[in-house]
Formats: sequence, C-alpha cells, structure tokens
Amino acid sequence: MDDRDGFIWLDGKVVPWRDSRMHVLTHALHYGSAVFEGERIYDGRVFRLAAHSQRLINSARLLDYEIPWTRQQIEEATRAVVKANGLQSGYVRPIAWRGSEVMGVSAIGTTVHLAIAPWAQEGRLSVQARDAGINVTMAKYRRPSADFAPGHAKVAGLYLICGIEKDKALKAGFDDALMLDWKGDLAESTGANIFLVIDGTLVTPTPENFLDGITRRAVMSLARKRGWSVEERTVKPQELSRASEVFLCGTAAEIVPVGSVDGHNYQAGPVARTLMADFHKLVRSPDCEGFGESTHLA
Ligand code: PMP
Repeated sequence: MDDRDGFIWLDGKVVPWRDSRMHVLTHALHYGSAVFEGERIYDGRVFRLAAHSQRLINSARLLDYEIPWTRQQIEEATRAVVKANGLQSGYVRPIAWRGSEVMGVSAIGTTVHLAIAPWAQEGRLSVQARDAGINVTMAKYRRPSADFAPGHAKVAGLYLICGIEKDKALKAGFDDALMLDWKGDLAESTGANIFLVIDGTLVTPTPENFLDGITRRAVMSLARKRGWSVEERTVKPQELSRASEVFLCGTAAEIVPVGSVDGHNYQAGPVARTLMADFHKLVRSPDCEGFGESTHLA
C-alpha cells in the first residue's frame, strides 16, 4: 500500500502518498495505541462522516487522549483529501496515534498525530459471493469483557485477536470467523456486526463489549422503517441453527449474507436482500454525511 500515487492528509497538510511516513519508535507501533476509522465514499461523499469522525475522537478519549483537531476540522480534512484524490467511490482510513518522543508503556509526553488516507476500493466481494453468501467458521478467541478492554473504542490493539482469527479462517478456506464474547454469547465477526432472522424477527447481539457499528445502527433503522420487528438481545451461538438468514454488516462489508457457518447452510434470503437494496439507496441520499441514526456518538 505504500508505493503508489495519491495523497494523504497528514497532520494538517495534504502530502504525496509515498511521503507519509512515521518513525519506527512510534508509541502506537509498540503498544497498539492508535485509534482509527473505516469509512466509505459513495458518489463523492463519505457516508456518516460526522458519526465516524466523532467516533474517532471518542475512541481516543477512551484511551485518555485528545486528537488536536475538532470534528468539523476532521470532516473538512476528509473532504479535502477525498477531492485531492479525485475519488467518487472508495474507502477512507483516518488514524490517530501517539508519536515517538518517548519510548515506554506510558504515552505521556508523546505528540498525537492524525492521518487520513482515502483510496479507490469497490466492495471486496464479487457479485457471485454476495449472492451465495460468505462461508464463516467459529473463532477460538473471544471478545474481552468491558472490564478487560475498552471494547467500544476502535483501537488498533484490540484488532490483534481479530487479525489472528481472520488469517486462520482464510487459511482454512473460509471468508471470515464469528467471535463469541467472554461469556460465550455471539458477538460479531472479525470486522463486522451480525444479524440473524429468527421466526421472522431481526435479532442482533447487544453491543455491550464490542463495536456498536454505524452500519448496524443504519440496518436497524431501515428494518424498523419497513415495520419489521428488531430485537437487540443476548444471542446464544446455538441460535444460529434456528435462524433462517444470517448476515454481517459493516463499512467495508456493507451488508453481506452468510452462506454457511461451519458447514451449516443458509440462503441469502429476502430480509438481507431487501436491506441491501434499502442500504444502497440510503448511502447515496443527499444527507448521508451526517450522524443519521448514530446520534449516540455525538
Ligand atoms: N465490528 C468490528 C470489529 C469492526 O471492525 C467493524 C468495522 N468498523 C464493525 C463491527 C462495524 O462497524 P461500522 O459499521 O461502524 O463500520
């Protein structure tokens, strides 16, 4: 990813892609203290830009540091760098991190940096994969309890177990892995939230100790607008076998049906398909940059 044309917004300036570098003694590299976002550009605009920018600031605060730019400045910077790259669609990765002035567990005395990197990236899955659904397996590692880690922060360090499980799943021929929480209840996948359709109701785990996704909130709102019943509750992994449909959702994944969990098959059914079509319209609506239904982040 480092040797390519393009521009990245780095600490207040739009710089050539290849020149956006940091020192090897950066605190975040050693101790996982970076916070980041994943955003998606549709028709030249970033879906829920305000919500993502605020979540970035909130994530840093959960780690007890302040990003030295306001939400409005982060939004302006994002728009500017998306424009500089001439992107109408793609992905954006904002990341804030503790710098290299001091080396040690404590980050006190380090500068807080911010970079915003957008690039062209269509949906990661082919149309066929979306139609058939992805194949997932159950992960070994569990999401830690809220007493063990700030699970609502999108923090680099917390992605360690996600990365291990995702690699393991890919090497075993799956597309992703489903993670349980510390109690053994269903949590999410390695980079997206999960929904099940059980007896006609859309069911999703309560995000007590994992990321309450911006896409997840949008999906619940779209379903309720259709008059469908939506339940946020504890979901036991055994309930997967009772579900008529299972799907994942997140910024990168958008809405993607699950075709199988460890060999138990599902159809990419009508609920997921309808929501995919509704989501496609929502992300292209004129007010898509705001908080939408994610006002809890403000
Ligand atoms: N859970 C995890 C672990 C994620 O990485 C993501 C992607 N950011 C999500 C859930 C979904 O969040 P969002 O819809 O805000 O992208």
